[in-house]
Amino acid sequence: MRKKQSIGFDTMAIHGVEEEKHPDFALNAPIFMSSTFQFNSLEEAEEVFSFARDQYVYTRGNNPTLRLLEKRLALLEGGVGTVVFSTGMGAISSVLLSLLKPGDEVLAHRTVYGCSYDFLTKFLPQYKVGCRFANLAGEVGENLLDEKVKVIYLETPANPNLEIIDLHRISQLARRRGIKLVVDNTFATPYFQNPLKLGAHVVVHSATKYLCGHGDALGGAVIALDQEYLHRLKFEYLSKLGGVLSPFNAWLILRGLKTLGLRMRQHQANALSVARYLQSHPRIARVNYPGLPGFPGHELAKKQMRGFGGMLSFEVKDGATAARRLVDNLQLAKLAVSLGDAETLVEHPASMTHRAYPREKLREFGLSESMVRLSVGLEDEEDIVADLEQALDRL
Ligand code: PLP
Repeated sequence: MRKKQSIGFDTMAIHGVEEEKHPDFALNAPIFMSSTFQFNSLEEAEEVFSFARDQYVYTRGNNPTLRLLEKRLALLEGGVGTVVFSTGMGAISSVLLSLLKPGDEVLAHRTVYGCSYDFLTKFLPQYKVGCRFANLAGEVGENLLDEKVKVIYLETPANPNLEIIDLHRISQLARRRGIKLVVDNTFATPYFQNPLKLGAHVVVHSATKYLCGHGDALGGAVIALDQEYLHRLKFEYLSKLGGVLSPFNAWLILRGLKTLGLRMRQHQANALSVARYLQSHPRIARVNYPGLPGFPGHELAKKQMRGFGGMLSFEVKDGATAARRLVDNLQLAKLAVSLGDAETLVEHPASMTHRAYPREKLREFGLSESMVRLSVGLEDEEDIVADLEQALDRL
């Protein structure tokens, strides 16, 4: 066999960073369900507590199962390290708190996950941190910034309208102004996109979604290129705010990662078929899927991503009532929040995930009450399409 220069994504997701054999030559890494770790002497404990020696102390600070997940995610995202959290929101809130102080402001893309929007508009202002929103998928210039802006926060593709933001352009702008660019890469996953390689400072994930992939564990992750920052995030924020991932959930996410590439390829193939079907349907006004040539972000997605993912949204022609009826008519697709699972999940963002957005300003934020979001699952593509067909027929 010819020797390859570097190993591929799927191989890294299965074997990456495992340097030694596991105890008793087990194929899989054990789950270290231990809250605390023993020392041989007080002297040794003091060395560890002063960070002179790297050893486990307490699972709120570190744990071998969490560490394996952290190293593997860093490898997949192209970062120097990871801090894992109990949820995606644990990761997002801790990152924003760690990068901002009273008087600072965040510039955020107009469409972000509803709880992130809530955190930016309701939680942070209590600590005198402001937030301004703009369409970062449109024209972006220095005029959006002033000396108060310390963080640019965005998702690309954005939840739920799949808008694509030019990471190279925004990161250049951020770097010129000494601003930190934080990118939520939950929708794309490291299989399709590596924001750190395009100039972002920090990547956040809801590991609950595609990384885990089976809808059975919550988790979050922060990956960055700055080891000192990650150390500060872990010991000044995660271990004080306390949103620590369970080793059991870390193990489930490690298990999910082994099939991330395989799953993403199938999610994408199914999503493309569903998007094409919906696009040709007379009752559908618009389909948001970066893989469709007519979608505004298509060319940019081709440039900065390695694929288009498994998420899509669409607008029903007859408005909000028809959209709500369609959601209720679906049978195979389950009405549920979350995404990235084997099951196709459907939801109505205006009533569910993005309820925090002001009704009267939905359009301004790139949302609408006739929008339906689909996390296209791993069922047979014909069955997902047939379910949509029967739901549309019954409108
Ligand atoms: N980021 C995005 C894009 C999401 O869709 C979600 C949840 O739906 C989150 C973050 C929050 O993640 P978690 O539910 O794991 O806290």
